[in-house]
Amino acid sequence: MKVLVVNAGSSSIKYQVFDMTDESVLAKGLVDRVGIPGTTLEHKPAGKDEVVIKKDLPDHTEGMKLVLEVLVNPEYGCIKSMDEIGAVGHRVVHGGEEFAKSVVVDDYVKKVIRDCFDIAPLHNPPNLMGIEACQALMPNVPHVAVFDTAFHQTMEPANFLYALPYEAYEKYKVRRYGFHGTSHFYVSHRAAEMLGKPYEQCKIITLHLGNGASMAAIKDGKVVDTSMGFTPLEGLVMGTRSGDIDPAIVFFLMEKLNMNAQEANNYFNKKSGMLGLSGVSNDLRDILEAASSGNERAQVALEVYYNRVKGYIGNYIAKLNGCDCLVFTAGVGENGYDVREKICENLDYLGIKLDPEKNKVRGKEVDVAAEDSKVRIFVIPTNEELVIARDTYNLAKAQ
Ligand code: AMP
Repeated sequence: MKVLVVNAGSSSIKYQVFDMTDESVLAKGLVDRVGIPGTTLEHKPAGKDEVVIKKDLPDHTEGMKLVLEVLVNPEYGCIKSMDEIGAVGHRVVHGGEEFAKSVVVDDYVKKVIRDCFDIAPLHNPPNLMGIEACQALMPNVPHVAVFDTAFHQTMEPANFLYALPYEAYEKYKVRRYGFHGTSHFYVSHRAAEMLGKPYEQCKIITLHLGNGASMAAIKDGKVVDTSMGFTPLEGLVMGTRSGDIDPAIVFFLMEKLNMNAQEANNYFNKKSGMLGLSGVSNDLRDILEAASSGNERAQVALEVYYNRVKGYIGNYIAKLNGCDCLVFTAGVGENGYDVREKICENLDYLGIKLDPEKNKVRGKEVDVAAEDSKVRIFVIPTNEELVIARDTYNLAKAQ
C-alpha cells in the first residue's frame, strides 16, 4: 500500500508519499504561501531532480489539487494514478484529552479537532482544512489523524495539572498537554533499540531541539513529564518563544507596553526566545556565529539556552529516578555538536559524559557518550512522517 502523509499549516502543505512495502519515500514536497500571492510548490521525487512550480492558489483545496496532479505527472510524478494511494495520514497538533492514539477520521474526530480550535488556534484550523481538502479529493480512502499531543496522554495528573483553581482544568481544560509527541515517540523507540532493552523497561530523556523545542521524560514506555505545556510556549528557550517565565511578567509588560492579549501572545511567541535575547536571529547557527565573533548578547543568550536544558535534564533525572539515555534530535539536536557539548558539560555527577570526538557528527544515528558514561547519549534524526505513515497504514489495514 502507498500512503500519503500530509502536514497542513496555515499557509503551507508538506507532503510525503511512502511505499509501505519497504517504507521507502517515493516523493516529498512543500506547497508554500497557500492563499498568499506567490504560491510555490517544491516537489522532490526519489532519485530525480526537484521540480518547482509557481502558481497562485487561493486555498488548501486548490493546493492539494496541485499536489495530486504533481504526484501522477508522467514525467516527475511517483504514481500512475491516485488509486494507488490506499490511505492518507494527517498531522494534527491538538487532540485534547480525547485521543491517546491515532484514529481514522470521522465526524466525531473532526468535531474534537474543531473543539480544540480554542486551545490551538494557529494549528488545528489549518490541520482540519487539510483533512477536509483531502477528503473532498479522495473520498474513498481512509484518512487518519495523528496527534502531536497523543503520546503525552500517559502523563499522570501529578505532572499535567497546574496549581490553579481546579475549575481552570475542569471547565476550561487548562492542563499540560505537551507537543512534538510523534517525534518523542519515534526517537525514544529507536533509543530503546539502540540500548538493546525492551521499551517498557527504559528510562529515556528525549531532547527535541529545533526552532520549537521540547523535552520529554519517558519511563517504562510512558511519558512521565514533558516541557511544553498547555501550549507550545512553555519550557525550553526556543527560536522566538520565551519558554518558562514568571507569569507575572505577562501582566507587568502588558501594562508597561500597553499590549492587549493578542499583542502579548505575539510578544512571547514571536519576539522572545533566542531572537529577543540575542537581538541577532532566531536561527541558532547565526547566534553561534555571532557569539564566536564576540557578540556578548549572543553569548549570554546561549548560556540561558544551555542552562534551561540542563535544568530540565536534572528535573527529569529526579522524576525518573535515573536515566538510561539522553536522545538529541531535530535541527539543533541532530546537527549542533557544539550545542550538545555545552549542554552535557559538567553533568558527570549525574553520570553524563560526552566523548567530544565521537560527538563531532551531524544528522547520524550514533552514541556520542564516553565509554565510561553511565548514561548513553544518542543522536537520532527524527522521522515524524514515518510514524504518521505507519499509524495510517496499520489503521487502514484494519478497516
Ligand atoms: P528544526 O525546527 O528542527 O527544523 O530546526 C531548526 C533549527 O536547527 C534552526 O534554529 C537551525 O539554526 C538549527 N540548526 C541547523 N543546523 C545546525 C547546526 N549545525 N548547529 C546548530 N544549529 C543548527
